[in-house]
Amino acid sequence: MKTEYIIPLLFSGTLALAGCGSSDDSEVVDTTDDSDSSVDIEDDDVVDVDTSYFDLASLDSIEVVECTLSNNESSTCYQITVKGFPADRSEIGPFCPEVITATAEDAGKWFDDGVLYDLTGEFIANLDEFYNDNNWLLYDEESGEVNITDTQTSCEAAAVVDVAEEYHNYCVQCDLDYYSDVEGEGIYSTYLIPTTPVVRDSAGDIDGENVGVAFNGVNLAAAAPAEVILSAYTIAAFDDCVGHVNPVAGYHYHGANHGDGDCPAIAFESDGHGGAFAYAMDGFVIYSMLDEEGNEATDLDECRGHTDDVRGYHYHSAGPGENAFIGCFTGETASADDDNEMDERPGR
Ligand SMILES: [Zn+2]
Ligand SMILES: [Zn+2]
Repeated sequence: MKTEYIIPLLFSGTLALAGCGSSDDSEVVDTTDDSDSSVDIEDDDVVDVDTSYFDLASLDSIEVVECTLSNNESSTCYQITVKGFPADRSEIGPFCPEVITATAEDAGKWFDDGVLYDLTGEFIANLDEFYNDNNWLLYDEESGEVNITDTQTSCEAAAVVDVAEEYHNYCVQCDLDYYSDVEGEGIYSTYLIPTTPVVRDSAGDIDGENVGVAFNGVNLAAAAPAEVILSAYTIAAFDDCVGHVNPVAGYHYHGANHGDGDCPAIAFESDGHGGAFAYAMDGFVIYSMLDEEGNEATDLDECRGHTDDVRGYHYHSAGPGENAFIGCFTGETASADDDNEMDERPGR
């Protein structure tokens, strides 16, 4: 585990274990000046967490532990350790295109201003126009080869806040194999999710914390710091599932792509409602943005949640290019109690 490694800003870098392990400094999100975002949800509309949603192949363990919620109240939580590899897929990637003639099939995605783009060779070749800045040149003009951080050293050097000059103008990707010796596994991460959600008095900021965990075992990360990434003339390429690898969180998502991808995999509900794919850290389920007919709910609150008779209160994900899943936390999140040290499994 590279402890001096400065990740927190690039690649969103939220440690999957944020709040666990270093148990003293669990943060309570200050929402006191969040104007009048009060949440009005009936008790009947709060549904217990159902761990059977999780794909068994994605799990290392689930147990019930004591925990402390963000309102400082004691509660019980599921402590869920996932293997960090999408259990509904056999492989991840591709990420960066290798040459400027590469098509969408051989490359991943990048997002900007809410839009998810195919990161084709052509897209790479035209970054100077796209960002209206002639300093962009992510490829060799003679060979057409794209500059890719294709070693562990280079990917880690490019995943810092102050990217060394030599890695400016690189398409950044890290190989999950650097961090996992086992096929079909990534970096193990442990999440604490209240067994029964507790509605907050007012919505809580996500504030760089984990948003949640998908039922396939992949982290839903906070927003990627796109401005930091772009300011170093780098592209932190995603695969078609809006996921990529960093050395701390391993493979993680910055969006849900139920458009030209089906990831994380969903099944629409029998009434045509969107499909569930994750638990947010507050214990409410996150469903796909759109229903089976392709429509988005019109009554979502600022956290992108609403209530219906079948599912109670739940969220709907933002669009695949929006660098977000939900807008805020409607429920309290959890941290481990001090006497309940968590197993960090660094770099497994
Ligand atoms: Zn990231
Ligand atoms: Zn809904």
